[in-house]
Amino acid sequence: MPSSWGLGDGQQIPWEYAPAPESREIVQLKSRYGLFVGGKELAPRSGQWFTTIDPATEEPLAEVARASVEDVDHAVGVARRAFRREWGKLPGRERAKYLFRIARILQERSREFAVLESLDGGKPIRESRDVDVPLAAAHFWYYAGWADKLEYAFPARDPKPLGVAAQVIPWNFPLLMLAWKIAPALAAGNTVVLKPASSTPLSALFFADVCRQADLPPGVVNIITGPGEIGLALVKHPDVDKVAFTGSTAVGKQIGRAIAGMNKALTLELGGKAANIILDDAPIDQAIEGVINGIFFNQGEVCCAGSRLLVQESIAEPFIERLKDRLSTLRVGDPLDKNTDVGAINNAAQLAKIEELVEAGQAEGADMYQPACELPARGFFVRPTLFTNVSQSNRIAQEEIFGPVLSVITFRTPAEAIEKANNTPYGLSAGVWTEKGSRILSMASKLRAGVVWANTFNRFDPTSPFGGYKESGFGREGGLQGLLAYLDLGEGH
Ligand code: NDP
Repeated sequence: MPSSWGLGDGQQIPWEYAPAPESREIVQLKSRYGLFVGGKELAPRSGQWFTTIDPATEEPLAEVARASVEDVDHAVGVARRAFRREWGKLPGRERAKYLFRIARILQERSREFAVLESLDGGKPIRESRDVDVPLAAAHFWYYAGWADKLEYAFPARDPKPLGVAAQVIPWNFPLLMLAWKIAPALAAGNTVVLKPASSTPLSALFFADVCRQADLPPGVVNIITGPGEIGLALVKHPDVDKVAFTGSTAVGKQIGRAIAGMNKALTLELGGKAANIILDDAPIDQAIEGVINGIFFNQGEVCCAGSRLLVQESIAEPFIERLKDRLSTLRVGDPLDKNTDVGAINNAAQLAKIEELVEAGQAEGADMYQPACELPARGFFVRPTLFTNVSQSNRIAQEEIFGPVLSVITFRTPAEAIEKANNTPYGLSAGVWTEKGSRILSMASKLRAGVVWANTFNRFDPTSPFGGYKESGFGREGGLQGLLAYLDLGEGH
């Protein structure tokens, strides 16, 4: 893929990178994957299967079971029995051993999981290798440490597991979202039934194998695959005590309505439209990298992506020029190539949504910039896109695009930046770039966002709680707060 080094004065030295593909041999795919219930792989009672594809080539990868409502019922029953008979009674130090084992196995099999995650999801191998898989393992390490210390985590309380947790996860971080959900649930003593997204079921099904390898008692973790209606049947099941969902705001609202009055604990982690705010005294080189990482990490398919760039008017022009230069160096293409920065969009519907919003941006009068990179002939790819001259009311400034599309808005004063940043139905994350600590603190306290990054963006850590305000959902994952979502603290809580 051609690129170039700028020498200033418009001079460029052409620069070719040789392909550096990661071998996919390390992943041994079967032709079919059943449901994982009670420690066994089961054929679906529906007798139906669906195909999961590689979004970079549109080639089929494997067939996956389409669960029926009877399968959901069976899986919840199995999880309930495992909770009542074994896991719910097991001392924390014993639960911890299993979690430590899972963490270690994930690390041992990290290359396999990284390749699998890129194959099924389209994300660059550099990211699945350096971010998704290590962070997933880190969540198991972290929560393993808490499993035998719950009384210290919540002193003077009587922490008890809730029971059976139904967990529905999206396609943008399949393994990582699984870890965010399963690790705290198990550490707290719950059993789980998890439904991955239909376009990325494979890492959850490989995780089933990790559970077997770790000798996790059968029924503690159950994985069912199938369409959204199966997710709905799972969360609505009367024997489910706790529901955890990550995905779109529309489905989050539907779940909230469906289980209202059913006495289930609920956490929702939904969409976002984060503002990444660049003040005039920001460290420019770092800020450019932070903006790039904020919106092009995982093709922008990130709920907390910095999709609105708010840049102070006095530095806007040179900043945007620098940003365009940097955009032109991004390599779009084969997710399994170690030099790729922007991989494939996860699925055809998502690609169509991105393309529709890019067209809407142009139609509404914003100025579009896309680097002249070549896109692969097959697969779901889109060019990194930057819109300037965007007004607050434009769809590209209001709606979650969930793609590599950045909308730039300018402001004159920090107060105006806050007002514009908060002018969204979402409230998941935000970023502030300035060299003054006092400005960081003052801005952060006024931003209505669950996470505010200062002079960085898209940083995740298992010890740090993550979650939103407003239409971005409620409840926190990560840290002690993430444990709390899976515990009953007894009287007075
Ligand atoms: P969804 O919210 O539809 O999917 C997320 C998960 O929920 C998947 O496992 C899905 O299953 C399941 N699901 C779908 N419908 C229901 C339902 N009625 N009840 C219970 N579970 C359900 O997201 P999409 O994949 O359709 O993406 C659409 C948009 O959502 C994106 O463009 C993006 O804006 C946003 N999104 C936000 C995410 C986030 O992290 N906050 C993640 C993904 C998307 P299945 O895959 O089988 O449909």
